Amino acid sequence: MKRSRPVVAIDGPAGAGKSTCAGRLANRLGYVLVDTGALYRGVALAAAEAGISFDDGPRLGELTRNLPLRFAPNADGPPKLMINDIDRSADIRTPEISKGASDVSKHAEVRDALLGLQRKLGEDGGVVLEGRDIGTVVFPDAEVKIFLTASEKVRGERRWHELRARGVLADRDQTVAEVAARDLQDSQRPVAPLKPASDAIHVDTSEIDLEAAVSQMESIVRAKLAS
Ligand code: C5P
Repeated sequence: MKRSRPVVAIDGPAGAGKSTCAGRLANRLGYVLVDTGALYRGVALAAAEAGISFDDGPRLGELTRNLPLRFAPNADGPPKLMINDIDRSADIRTPEISKGASDVSKHAEVRDALLGLQRKLGEDGGVVLEGRDIGTVVFPDAEVKIFLTASEKVRGERRWHELRARGVLADRDQTVAEVAARDLQDSQRPVAPLKPASDAIHVDTSEIDLEAAVSQMESIVRAKLAS
C-alpha cells in the first residue's frame, strides 16, 4: 500500500551532522524522528551489561531479538531510547558505546533482529529516519534519500565538540582517529555497509553550518513532494 506521507532516509558517516540535521528537519516538517543508531547503541549497552562479547553474533542476535527497545516522546529534545522501560539515552552516548555499536552492528543476526522494528517505526511515513543503511536496506523505496557527509577532519572535530558540550573530556586527535576508524569499519563490513544509495542526494556539511544544511535538506524534501 502506498504511504500517504513520505519516508525521508538520511544516511552518512559519524559526525556529518545527521542527528542534529535530522532532528531539525523533522521539526520543520512536523515528522517523527527515528535515530536508528540509538538502537544499535542500545544493543551494545545491553550486551556490555550482560557480559556478551561484541564478537558473538549468535548470542548478540538472541539478545537483540528479546530486547525491549522503544522510543519515548520527549518534549525537550529527541525521543528517548528506552530499554526495559528505563531511559538509557545518556548511557548510550559514550565513546565506548559508539565503538561497541559499530562492533555489534557488523553481525547479520543483530541487523536482522532490528530490521522489523525500524520498518515498523517508518511504515506510516511522515518520518525522518537516520542511520547508515536506511536508503539502501531498511527503506530502499524511501521517497526521499539524502546522504549527509563532511570531511574526516570536520567530522572528527564536530564529534569532539559534541562530547565536550556533554562534559566528556576526550582527546581531540584521538576523537578524530576514532571517528575515522568507526567509519572505515562501518563502510567495509560485508552486511549493509555504510554507502550512499544510488539515488541519494548528497549534502556536504564540511563548509556550511548545520542550519544551512537543514535548509538545503528541507528544500530537497519539498521539491520531491511537489514533483
Ligand atoms: O549514528 P550513530 O553514531 O549513533 O551509530 C552508531 C553505530 O551504529 C554506527 O557506527 C554504525 O556502526 C551503527 N549503525 C548501523 N546502521 C544504522 C545506524 C547505525 O550500522 N542504520
